[in-house]
Amino acid sequence: MDADVTDADVIIVGAGPTGLMLAGELRLGGADVIVTERLERPTGQSRGLGFTARALESFDQRGLVPRFGGLETSPMGHFGGVQFDYTVLEDAHFGARGIPQSRTEAVLEEWALELGADIRRGWEFLDLTQDENGVTATIDTPDGERRLRARYLVGTDGGHSLVRRIAGFSFPGTDATRGMYLADVVGCSIPPRFLGERVPAGMVMAAPLGEGVDRIIVCEHGAPPADRSRTPDFAEVAAAWQRLTGEDISGGGADWVSSFTDATRQASEYRRGRVLLAGDAAHIHLPAGGQGLSTGVQDAVNLGWKLAAVVQGWAPEGLLDTYHGERHPVGARLLSNTLAQGTVFLGGEESEPLRALFAELIGLDPVKRYLAGVVSHLDVRYNMGDGDHPLLGRRLPPRVLTTAAGPVGTPELLHPAQGLVLDLADDPEVREAAAGWKDRVTTVTGVPRDPEVFAGATAVLVRPDGYVAWAGTNTDSLAAALHHWFGTPA
Ligand SMILES: Cc1cc2nc3c(=O)[nH]c(=O)nc-3n(C[C@H](O)[C@H](O)[C@H](O)COP(=O)(O)OP(=O)(O)OC[C@H]3O[C@@H](n4cnc5c(N)ncnc54)[C@H](O)[C@@H]3O)c2cc1C
Repeated sequence: MDADVTDADVIIVGAGPTGLMLAGELRLGGADVIVTERLERPTGQSRGLGFTARALESFDQRGLVPRFGGLETSPMGHFGGVQFDYTVLEDAHFGARGIPQSRTEAVLEEWALELGADIRRGWEFLDLTQDENGVTATIDTPDGERRLRARYLVGTDGGHSLVRRIAGFSFPGTDATRGMYLADVVGCSIPPRFLGERVPAGMVMAAPLGEGVDRIIVCEHGAPPADRSRTPDFAEVAAAWQRLTGEDISGGGADWVSSFTDATRQASEYRRGRVLLAGDAAHIHLPAGGQGLSTGVQDAVNLGWKLAAVVQGWAPEGLLDTYHGERHPVGARLLSNTLAQGTVFLGGEESEPLRALFAELIGLDPVKRYLAGVVSHLDVRYNMGDGDHPLLGRRLPPRVLTTAAGPVGTPELLHPAQGLVLDLADDPEVREAAAGWKDRVTTVTGVPRDPEVFAGATAVLVRPDGYVAWAGTNTDSLAAALHHWFGTPA
């Protein structure tokens, strides 16, 4: 086929949670998207069993929560195995739990398809070249090899990303030091240990998945990283479980057995020319606190509207580069918090004093609030330039505004993934200042039910990803912020 024909604005490689979320976000922003996924159908297996408070809010901002058919959030969580109540921080919780990753992927795939994403399964990415106008990808399809052409390509192809390798991204970090097992066990009943339990020889976790299946995780001190070329068998996992807990589960079986490690790496840049990375392709780490999928989804929400703005032609100078600028530090923090949790939770005798000190520190409310902010991802604050309003750079909290049409939740206002001006004082000057951007920024007049959240601001500018880009009272400064984030008025 002729590679000079543009097949889409953006090619996404990999239909995991990050790629699917990105596909939906790009479609909301008006970009044409092809997603190539090497698997012919989803595996149905689930590494993750939930997501963080901020990932849940991100789904809520797009109206996706009802599709999960009821989400339960857990107030009790942990940091490095030391348990505490996350609701010490306003709006925080330990996340939505008990939601298999396969379910999250199914919800996101259905949504992305409804929005018009072109998802090609059984299409394996093999190679790419880029030039000043676009990217050409070579794909192995059921009908043979073909080339696809797009203006940008995003690698969301997971921790072993081929896109990352071929496009020449560096991926510094530390190799795996320990190997751990995961199994979905059937045919025996296992006492739950939802948040994990330290035992003399390591750490074990167990949670019922329903229909007689129990998810177990086994981390044994001194266990080396598994040989990735072979899948562990259930007998190995059962033997390790018995060594750690004394419980014999060898009479049962497993629907799925897998292994994972604490390898910790991050791409040193998230963009090389017209190729970008998101999700596990950009960062890998110990799965402590259920943060990987959640971070990938938030990478996608950060990147989607920016990349769509570029291909739609209204992006202000430098907008796309703020993706690396904003998300790389978040990824770096994720790596350091999971490494710290691994040291506290999975270390042997030598980390006992650290654990004891940690348990004392977590007794302090400011420490709890700090750590709840880190793991829930509610503490993310992007650099939005000058200004000292407490909401600047932070996510718009889910609150209720009373508008002429009645009460409305702030997440609902973000369903279309447009920018948002909240006119909180029914000020015609605010509406006039925002009028030139009405093709990409919606203005809503309303009175907040709890005005203290807005700390004296009479207007707030929110980006499509739900982060506050400006808050204040001066309409000239609002217009400057609109120019900065949303380009030239139409
Ligand atoms: C034990 C464990 C528990 C976890 N629990 C949680 C949790 O509770 N909450 C949480 O938030 N995170 C959790 N995680 C992390 C989470 O599973 C990952 O962070 C998440 O899957 C990353 O999503 P992704 O879309 O970036 O990558 P992936 O899910 O790896 O998806 C990548 C996709 O790309 C496809 N692909 C790869 N190569 C190609 C190619 N060449 N061509 C085409 N397609 C390709 C793959 O088939 C796959 O579908 C856990 C991880 C582990 C190991």
